Amino acid sequence: MTVHIRPQALADTAVRPFSMLIGGAWVSGAEGRTIDRVAPSHGVTVSRYQAATAIDAERAIAAARKAFDHGPWPHMTASQRSLVLLKAADLIAARADELAYLDCIEAGKPISQVRGEIAGAVDIWRYAAALARELHGDSYNSLGRNMLGVVLREAIGVVSIITPWNFPSLIVSQKLPFALAAGCTTVVKPSEFTSGSTLLLGEILMEAGIPQGVVNIIVGTGAEVGATLTTHHDVDMVSFTGSTGVGRLSMANAAQSLKKVSLELGGKNPQIVFPDADLDAFVDAAVFGAWFNAGECCNAGSRLILHESIAADVTARIAELSKTVRVGDPLDPKTQVGAIITPQHLARISDYVHGATESGATVAHGGGALDLGAGQFMSPTILSGVTPDMAVAREEVFGPVLSVLTFESIEKALHIANDTPYGLSTGVWSRDIDTCMTVARGVRAGTVWVNTFMDGTPELPFGGTRQSGLGRELGRRAVEDYTEEKTIQIHRGPRTAWWADRAEA
Ligand code: NDP
Repeated sequence: MTVHIRPQALADTAVRPFSMLIGGAWVSGAEGRTIDRVAPSHGVTVSRYQAATAIDAERAIAAARKAFDHGPWPHMTASQRSLVLLKAADLIAARADELAYLDCIEAGKPISQVRGEIAGAVDIWRYAAALARELHGDSYNSLGRNMLGVVLREAIGVVSIITPWNFPSLIVSQKLPFALAAGCTTVVKPSEFTSGSTLLLGEILMEAGIPQGVVNIIVGTGAEVGATLTTHHDVDMVSFTGSTGVGRLSMANAAQSLKKVSLELGGKNPQIVFPDADLDAFVDAAVFGAWFNAGECCNAGSRLILHESIAADVTARIAELSKTVRVGDPLDPKTQVGAIITPQHLARISDYVHGATESGATVAHGGGALDLGAGQFMSPTILSGVTPDMAVAREEVFGPVLSVLTFESIEKALHIANDTPYGLSTGVWSRDIDTCMTVARGVRAGTVWVNTFMDGTPELPFGGTRQSGLGRELGRRAVEDYTEEKTIQIHRGPRTAWWADRAEA
């Protein structure tokens, strides 16, 4: 089902200009260049950002360094920082419509979906505010009568936060409030496709009472400012979400000065389905897992590994349900699948589909680009007869393309599931707890969903194994990631002299 675009809906809207946030001031880029964002759904320019250069990145890092070394933020009490984060959460909620609109038109995401993401972001900011007050070190009273061991947790310092375009409000909220809770200062670089909501967040944070220089936000291409943010000697940690390739590059950059890195990268996530599963529930989860966010989702359930006895029937049911999914105008609250981020990305997704059919896969639903009058859209596409060696089964397509593979034994299912370089998430469907546990323990993934898919809550850690990333976000240790331990050994009473000991021997 398609929802056509009315190009006029945005044509008369003025292009929204944005500045960068450096040291508490809204400024232009050093070279005065700008970056325009064209709405992927309507094909008209909607936002204009100041383009940062390496010079701007250095200014932002200097502001964050000064705020960390000389500013009040790291030394405020946890309860004071927590109050600022809670105020920020309230202000995000109050401006949810404005944030949602920006993500909708800049990323092409369905407006009702983005509203859910903003609500999720508010929840995460509140969770981080609670964790801020729980951050503490450790003590050892077991080291003998004369020694006390105290382990402090200290903010790591200046953190570069680099985020992608697919969840502009949510992903920055998985990083920034936790870094702030720890007492760190930051330079944030959102994707140059979807920077609007992050810049608006900067406005919100200033209003919430974040001191100058604690949060700096610059817009620019990764190629231009990424190297500065990941190599600069005044940056102590890099927290990156994006593709595996750029993650690897960022880690190599950070290694030059041995910075701590946290990486949330790509995935090729399987859903493994056994014949005894609740197939009605699964068919819905398959459609959700594959078409949510147009498949431009690190957690997309892009591979179905179906038991061969149910594969044909289940594939037909998924195709049938997919016909009812509404693809098109993201501003329409009923739309479920929006636009593809850029024309180049649409071409890349289409190449994967062509490659698969040339290698022998069959299109069971969809198959290519959709002409909806403006922008770029892709029909949700199901490929059956996919074999584990095909590129579409091994590489992250990052679009609405679902590959169906089959298995005959649990060992084979596990082998196929683990046979990619990724390890982000997995779904398993069965009414047999033994089957579910065997799969849950056997897959190499950071998250396993049992009889559900793509659920999440701030309490549970999230992240990938192997080439899906390094480290975990969220969960009760999320703030600790932005700290370092310092050991203090305190001696009581007269100390046994090293020299005297030796003299007696
Ligand atoms: P990219 O890796 O292309 O970009 C991510 C960010 O890195 C952007 O801000 C980008 O800037 C920046 N960047 C690009 N080049 C460099 C560089 N040389 N040094 C430093 N930073 C750089 O990813 P996409 O934006 O295309 O996002 C899609 C990817 O993100 C997918 O692979 C997806 O799986 C992954 N992802 C992972 C998640 C997870 O939690 N595991 C969650 C969501 C997405 P710019 O684009 O402005 O040039």
